[in-house]
Amino acid sequence: MSELPNTTTQIETSAAAICSSVHAAKRSGATVGFVPTMGALHQGHLSLVEASLAECDKTVVSIFVNPTQFSPNEDLESYPRPLEQDFRLLEKLGCWVVFAPPVEEVYRQKHETTIDVGSVALPWEGASRPEHFGGVATVVLKLFQIVPADRAYFGQKDYQQTLVIQQMVADLNIPVEIRVCPIVREPDGLAMSSRNAYLLPEERAQAGQLWKSLELAESLVAEGERRVTTIREKMKNLLASSEQIELEYLAFLAQGTVREVDAIEQPTVVALAARVGRVGRVGRVGRTRLLDNHTIGMKNEGRRAEATESRERGA
Ligand code: AMP
Repeated sequence: MSELPNTTTQIETSAAAICSSVHAAKRSGATVGFVPTMGALHQGHLSLVEASLAECDKTVVSIFVNPTQFSPNEDLESYPRPLEQDFRLLEKLGCWVVFAPPVEEVYRQKHETTIDVGSVALPWEGASRPEHFGGVATVVLKLFQIVPADRAYFGQKDYQQTLVIQQMVADLNIPVEIRVCPIVREPDGLAMSSRNAYLLPEERAQAGQLWKSLELAESLVAEGERRVTTIREKMKNLLASSEQIELEYLAFLAQGTVREVDAIEQPTVVALAARVGRVGRVGRVGRTRLLDNHTIGMKNEGRRAEATESRERGA
Protein backbone atom coordinates (compact mmCIF):
# COMPACT_ATOMS: atom_id res chain seq x y z
CA MET A 1 0.00 0.00 0.00
CA SER A 2 1.47 3.40 -0.98
CA GLU A 3 1.68 5.81 1.95
CA LEU A 4 2.08 9.44 0.93
CA PRO A 5 4.63 11.52 2.88
CA ASN A 6 3.34 13.33 6.00
CA THR A 7 0.00 11.58 6.04
CA THR A 8 -1.56 8.58 7.66
CA THR A 9 -4.30 8.39 5.03
CA GLN A 10 -3.37 5.99 2.27
CA ILE A 11 -4.42 5.80 -1.36
CA GLU A 12 -5.03 2.31 -2.66
CA THR A 13 -5.71 1.32 -6.24
CA SER A 14 -5.53 -2.47 -5.90
CA ALA A 15 -8.73 -4.37 -5.07
CA ALA A 16 -6.82 -7.36 -3.65
CA ALA A 17 -4.68 -5.15 -1.39
CA ILE A 18 -7.58 -3.16 0.11
CA CYS A 19 -9.55 -6.37 0.59
CA SER A 20 -6.79 -8.00 2.59
CA SER A 21 -6.17 -4.80 4.62
CA VAL A 22 -9.84 -4.68 5.61
CA HIS A 23 -9.84 -8.37 6.55
CA ALA A 24 -6.69 -7.84 8.63
CA ALA A 25 -8.18 -4.80 10.39
CA LYS A 26 -11.33 -6.77 11.24
CA ARG A 27 -9.31 -9.74 12.47
CA SER A 28 -7.48 -7.40 14.81
CA GLY A 29 -10.85 -6.36 16.27
CA ALA A 30 -11.36 -3.02 14.48
CA THR A 31 -14.75 -2.08 13.02
CA VAL A 32 -14.58 -0.80 9.47
CA GLY A 33 -16.92 1.76 7.88
CA PHE A 34 -17.17 2.25 4.11
CA VAL A 35 -18.35 5.26 2.11
CA PRO A 36 -18.70 4.63 -1.64
CA THR A 37 -18.54 7.82 -3.75
CA MET A 38 -17.84 9.00 -7.26
CA GLY A 39 -15.59 11.79 -5.91
CA ALA A 40 -15.80 15.56 -6.48
CA LEU A 41 -16.47 15.55 -2.78
CA HIS A 42 -18.63 18.13 -1.03
CA GLN A 43 -19.96 18.44 2.50
CA GLY A 44 -22.74 15.92 1.69
CA HIS A 45 -20.14 13.21 1.05
CA LEU A 46 -18.06 14.38 4.00
CA SER A 47 -21.06 14.07 6.34
CA LEU A 48 -21.16 10.34 5.49
CA VAL A 49 -17.43 10.09 6.19
CA GLU A 50 -17.93 11.89 9.51
CA ALA A 51 -20.73 9.48 10.45
CA SER A 52 -18.46 6.54 9.69
CA LEU A 53 -15.54 8.06 11.60
CA ALA A 54 -17.83 8.56 14.61
CA GLU A 55 -19.12 4.97 14.56
CA CYS A 56 -16.23 2.88 13.24
CA ASP A 57 -12.56 2.45 14.11
CA LYS A 58 -11.41 2.75 10.51
CA THR A 59 -13.04 4.40 7.51
CA VAL A 60 -12.53 3.51 3.86
CA VAL A 61 -13.82 5.89 1.16
CA SER A 62 -13.95 4.76 -2.45
CA ILE A 63 -13.71 7.22 -5.32
CA PHE A 64 -14.80 5.55 -8.51
CA VAL A 65 -16.79 7.07 -11.37
CA ASN A 66 -18.69 3.94 -12.29
CA PRO A 67 -19.18 3.77 -16.08
CA THR A 68 -21.98 1.18 -15.95
CA GLN A 69 -24.42 3.52 -14.20
CA PHE A 70 -24.22 6.17 -16.94
CA SER A 71 -26.26 5.94 -20.14
CA PRO A 72 -24.41 6.65 -23.38
CA ASN A 73 -25.87 10.19 -23.59
CA GLU A 74 -24.91 11.12 -20.02
CA ASP A 75 -21.95 12.96 -18.48
CA LEU A 76 -19.48 10.09 -17.84
CA GLU A 77 -16.63 11.82 -19.70
CA SER A 78 -17.19 15.25 -18.22
CA TYR A 79 -17.93 14.10 -14.66
CA PRO A 80 -15.52 16.07 -12.40
CA ARG A 81 -12.51 14.12 -11.07
CA PRO A 82 -10.53 16.38 -8.71
CA LEU A 83 -8.74 13.42 -7.07
CA GLU A 84 -5.95 15.37 -5.38
CA GLN A 85 -8.39 17.81 -3.76
CA ASP A 86 -10.67 14.94 -2.66
CA PHE A 87 -7.75 13.14 -1.10
CA ARG A 88 -6.75 16.25 0.89
CA LEU A 89 -10.28 16.58 2.28
CA LEU A 90 -10.35 12.94 3.36
CA GLU A 91 -6.88 13.17 4.84
CA LYS A 92 -7.95 16.17 6.91
CA LEU A 93 -10.90 14.24 8.32
CA GLY A 94 -8.73 11.27 9.29
CA CYS A 95 -9.89 8.69 6.81
CA TRP A 96 -7.93 5.41 6.88
CA VAL A 97 -7.79 4.45 3.19
CA VAL A 98 -9.02 6.07 -0.03
CA PHE A 99 -9.71 3.34 -2.58
CA ALA A 100 -9.41 4.95 -6.02
CA PRO A 101 -9.11 2.15 -8.56
CA PRO A 102 -8.81 2.51 -12.32
CA VAL A 103 -11.80 1.15 -14.28
CA GLU A 104 -9.88 -2.03 -15.31
CA GLU A 105 -9.34 -2.89 -11.64
CA VAL A 106 -13.08 -3.00 -11.02
CA TYR A 107 -14.34 -4.37 -14.36
CA ARG A 108 -12.25 -7.02 -16.02
CA GLN A 109 -12.61 -7.11 -19.78
CA LYS A 110 -14.85 -10.18 -19.70
CA HIS A 111 -17.27 -8.75 -17.13
CA GLU A 112 -20.88 -9.72 -17.95
CA THR A 113 -22.80 -10.08 -14.67
CA THR A 114 -25.39 -7.43 -13.75
CA ILE A 115 -27.44 -7.26 -10.59
CA ASP A 116 -31.17 -6.77 -11.14
CA VAL A 117 -32.84 -5.87 -7.85
CA GLY A 118 -36.40 -6.04 -9.20
CA SER A 119 -39.40 -3.78 -8.70
CA VAL A 120 -37.87 -1.14 -6.44
CA ALA A 121 -35.52 -0.16 -9.27
CA LEU A 122 -38.20 0.20 -11.96
CA PRO A 123 -40.14 3.45 -11.44
CA TRP A 124 -38.97 7.09 -11.06
CA GLU A 125 -35.18 7.14 -11.52
CA GLY A 126 -35.37 3.65 -13.00
CA ALA A 127 -37.89 4.78 -15.61
CA SER A 128 -35.87 7.89 -16.51
CA ARG A 129 -32.52 6.05 -16.57
CA PRO A 130 -33.22 2.39 -17.40
CA GLU A 131 -29.65 1.10 -16.98
CA HIS A 132 -28.82 3.19 -13.95
CA PHE A 133 -29.74 0.99 -10.99
CA GLY A 134 -28.38 -2.17 -12.60
CA GLY A 135 -25.03 -0.37 -12.80
CA VAL A 136 -25.32 1.00 -9.26
CA ALA A 137 -26.28 -2.34 -7.69
CA THR A 138 -23.56 -4.18 -9.60
CA VAL A 139 -20.78 -1.79 -8.61
CA VAL A 140 -21.95 -1.53 -5.00
CA LEU A 141 -22.01 -5.32 -4.66
CA LYS A 142 -18.53 -5.50 -6.19
CA LEU A 143 -17.31 -2.76 -3.84
CA PHE A 144 -18.81 -4.62 -0.87
CA GLN A 145 -16.77 -7.68 -1.90
CA ILE A 146 -13.62 -5.61 -2.32
CA VAL A 147 -14.16 -3.65 0.91
CA PRO A 148 -15.87 -6.12 3.27
CA ALA A 149 -16.75 -3.44 5.84
CA ASP A 150 -19.04 -3.76 8.86
CA ARG A 151 -21.10 -0.71 7.89
CA ALA A 152 -21.66 1.25 4.69
CA TYR A 153 -22.92 4.83 4.51
CA PHE A 154 -25.28 6.25 1.89
CA GLY A 155 -27.10 9.58 1.52
CA GLN A 156 -30.85 10.09 1.74
CA LYS A 157 -30.26 12.50 -1.16
CA ASP A 158 -30.46 9.44 -3.45
CA TYR A 159 -33.55 8.03 -1.77
CA GLN A 160 -34.44 5.37 -4.33
CA GLN A 161 -30.80 4.27 -4.47
CA THR A 162 -30.88 3.60 -0.70
CA LEU A 163 -33.92 1.35 -1.25
CA VAL A 164 -32.17 -0.47 -4.09
CA ILE A 165 -29.10 -1.09 -1.91
CA GLN A 166 -31.17 -2.21 1.08
CA GLN A 167 -33.17 -4.60 -1.11
CA MET A 168 -30.00 -6.10 -2.56
CA VAL A 169 -28.30 -6.45 0.83
CA ALA A 170 -31.35 -8.21 2.28
CA ASP A 171 -32.00 -10.42 -0.77
CA LEU A 172 -28.38 -11.52 -1.17
CA ASN A 173 -27.53 -11.89 2.55
CA ILE A 174 -24.69 -9.39 2.31
CA PRO A 175 -23.14 -9.05 5.77
CA VAL A 176 -23.01 -5.26 5.95
CA GLU A 177 -25.11 -2.80 7.92
CA ILE A 178 -26.51 0.02 5.78
CA ARG A 179 -26.67 3.48 7.29
CA VAL A 180 -28.62 6.28 5.59
CA CYS A 181 -27.54 9.84 6.43
CA PRO A 182 -29.52 13.09 6.06
CA ILE A 183 -29.30 15.41 3.06
CA VAL A 184 -26.77 18.23 3.40
CA ARG A 185 -27.90 21.47 1.76
CA GLU A 186 -26.43 24.77 0.58
CA PRO A 187 -27.50 27.90 2.51
CA ASP A 188 -30.43 28.46 0.09
CA GLY A 189 -31.55 24.85 0.53
CA LEU A 190 -30.23 23.37 -2.72
CA ALA A 191 -29.14 19.79 -2.00
CA MET A 192 -25.38 19.52 -2.39
CA SER A 193 -24.39 17.56 -5.48
CA SER A 194 -21.23 17.16 -7.53
CA ARG A 195 -23.36 18.14 -10.54
CA ASN A 196 -24.20 21.56 -9.06
CA ALA A 197 -20.81 22.61 -10.46
CA TYR A 198 -22.37 22.39 -13.94
CA LEU A 199 -24.86 25.19 -13.16
CA LEU A 200 -24.36 28.66 -14.66
CA PRO A 201 -24.93 31.52 -12.16
CA GLU A 202 -28.47 32.17 -13.39
CA GLU A 203 -29.31 28.46 -13.24
CA ARG A 204 -27.79 28.16 -9.80
CA ALA A 205 -29.98 31.04 -8.59
CA GLN A 206 -33.14 29.29 -9.83
CA ALA A 207 -32.13 25.83 -8.58
CA GLY A 208 -32.87 26.95 -5.01
CA GLN A 209 -36.56 26.81 -5.97
CA LEU A 210 -36.44 23.00 -5.86
CA TRP A 211 -36.00 23.13 -2.09
CA LYS A 212 -38.54 25.97 -1.83
CA SER A 213 -41.11 23.66 -3.41
CA LEU A 214 -40.32 20.89 -0.93
CA GLU A 215 -40.57 23.37 1.94
CA LEU A 216 -43.92 24.47 0.56
CA ALA A 217 -45.15 20.86 0.73
CA GLU A 218 -44.05 20.64 4.33
CA SER A 219 -45.75 23.85 5.34
CA LEU A 220 -49.00 22.90 3.58
CA VAL A 221 -49.06 19.66 5.56
CA ALA A 222 -48.27 21.55 8.76
CA GLU A 223 -51.31 23.73 8.02
CA GLY A 224 -53.44 20.61 7.77
CA GLU A 225 -53.50 19.91 4.02
CA ARG A 226 -53.51 16.17 3.33
CA ARG A 227 -54.46 15.89 -0.36
CA VAL A 228 -51.52 15.07 -2.61
CA THR A 229 -53.25 16.54 -5.69
CA THR A 230 -53.48 19.93 -3.98
CA ILE A 231 -49.93 19.88 -2.68
CA ARG A 232 -48.56 18.70 -6.04
CA GLU A 233 -50.44 21.44 -7.90
CA LYS A 234 -49.05 24.17 -5.62
CA MET A 235 -45.51 22.83 -5.88
CA LYS A 236 -45.80 22.69 -9.67
CA ASN A 237 -47.08 26.27 -9.78
CA LEU A 238 -44.15 27.43 -7.69
CA LEU A 239 -41.65 25.64 -9.93
CA ALA A 240 -43.38 26.84 -13.11
CA SER A 241 -42.40 30.41 -12.14
CA SER A 242 -38.73 29.46 -12.74
CA GLU A 243 -38.38 29.34 -16.50
CA GLN A 244 -35.12 27.36 -16.29
CA ILE A 245 -36.58 24.49 -14.28
CA GLU A 246 -38.32 21.61 -15.97
CA LEU A 247 -39.77 19.02 -13.63
CA GLU A 248 -39.20 15.43 -14.74
CA TYR A 249 -41.17 13.75 -11.96
CA LEU A 250 -42.68 14.70 -8.62
CA ALA A 251 -43.62 11.68 -6.54
CA PHE A 252 -45.24 11.29 -3.12
CA LEU A 253 -44.01 7.96 -1.78
CA ALA A 254 -44.85 6.06 1.39
CA GLN A 255 -41.59 6.27 3.36
CA GLY A 256 -39.34 3.27 2.71
CA THR A 257 -41.07 2.41 -0.58
CA VAL A 258 -41.48 3.60 -4.18
CA ARG A 259 -45.28 3.36 -3.84
CA GLU A 260 -47.30 6.54 -4.39
CA VAL A 261 -49.82 7.77 -1.86
CA ASP A 262 -52.74 10.09 -2.50
CA ALA A 263 -53.01 11.52 1.00
CA ILE A 264 -50.38 12.43 3.58
CA GLU A 265 -51.49 10.15 6.41
CA GLN A 266 -48.04 8.76 7.20
CA PRO A 267 -44.42 9.81 6.70
CA THR A 268 -44.14 10.49 2.97
CA VAL A 269 -41.06 11.11 0.87
CA VAL A 270 -41.64 13.83 -1.70
CA ALA A 271 -39.10 13.01 -4.39
CA LEU A 272 -38.35 15.01 -7.50
CA ALA A 273 -36.05 15.13 -10.49
CA ALA A 274 -35.68 18.25 -12.61
CA ARG A 275 -33.65 19.62 -15.47
CA VAL A 276 -32.15 23.03 -14.81
CA GLY A 277 -31.09 25.29 -17.67
CA ARG A 278 -32.53 26.73 -20.84
CA VAL A 279 -34.00 24.30 -23.33
CA GLY A 280 -31.34 23.66 -25.96
CA ARG A 281 -28.47 24.64 -23.63
CA VAL A 282 -25.37 22.95 -24.94
CA GLY A 283 -22.44 23.86 -22.66
CA ARG A 284 -20.39 21.09 -21.10
CA VAL A 285 -23.25 18.67 -20.44
CA GLY A 286 -26.43 20.41 -21.56
CA ARG A 287 -29.11 20.98 -18.96
CA THR A 288 -28.22 19.71 -15.48
CA ARG A 289 -30.39 16.96 -14.02
CA LEU A 290 -30.84 17.36 -10.26
CA LEU A 291 -32.56 15.19 -7.64
CA ASP A 292 -34.00 16.15 -4.30
CA ASN A 293 -36.43 14.82 -1.73
CA HIS A 294 -37.88 15.66 1.64
CA THR A 295 -39.87 13.65 4.15
CA ILE A 296 -43.17 15.19 5.21
CA GLY A 297 -46.07 13.98 7.36
CA MET A 298 -43.87 13.15 10.31
CA LYS A 299 -45.57 12.95 13.72
CA ASN A 300 -44.43 16.37 14.96
CA GLU A 301 -45.88 18.00 11.82
CA GLY A 302 -49.17 16.34 12.65
CA ARG A 303 -49.03 17.91 16.08
CA ARG A 304 -48.22 21.30 14.56
CA ALA A 305 -51.20 20.89 12.24
CA GLU A 306 -53.48 19.96 15.13
CA ALA A 307 -52.28 23.02 17.04
CA THR A 308 -53.09 25.19 14.00
CA GLU A 309 -56.52 23.63 13.68
CA SER A 310 -57.29 24.08 17.35
CA ARG A 311 -56.13 27.71 17.13
CA GLU A 312 -58.46 28.16 14.18
CA ARG A 313 -61.31 26.62 16.16
CA GLY A 314 -60.46 29.04 18.98
CA ALA A 315 -59.59 26.14 21.33
P1 AMP B 1 -22.09 10.16 -5.43
O1 AMP B 1 -20.67 10.60 -5.35
O2 AMP B 1 -22.97 11.13 -6.10
O3 AMP B 1 -22.22 8.74 -5.94
O4 AMP B 1 -22.59 10.10 -3.92
C1 AMP B 1 -21.96 9.29 -2.97
C2 AMP B 1 -22.81 9.23 -1.74
O5 AMP B 1 -22.97 10.54 -1.20
C3 AMP B 1 -24.22 8.70 -2.03
O6 AMP B 1 -24.61 7.81 -0.98
C4 AMP B 1 -25.05 9.96 -2.03
O7 AMP B 1 -26.40 9.74 -1.68
C5 AMP B 1 -24.34 10.78 -0.97
N1 AMP B 1 -24.66 12.20 -1.11
C6 AMP B 1 -24.57 12.93 -2.25
N2 AMP B 1 -25.00 14.19 -2.03
C7 AMP B 1 -25.38 14.25 -0.73
C8 AMP B 1 -25.93 15.27 0.09
N3 AMP B 1 -26.18 16.50 -0.37
N4 AMP B 1 -26.19 14.97 1.38
C9 AMP B 1 -25.95 13.73 1.87
N5 AMP B 1 -25.43 12.72 1.14
C10 AMP B 1 -25.15 12.97 -0.14
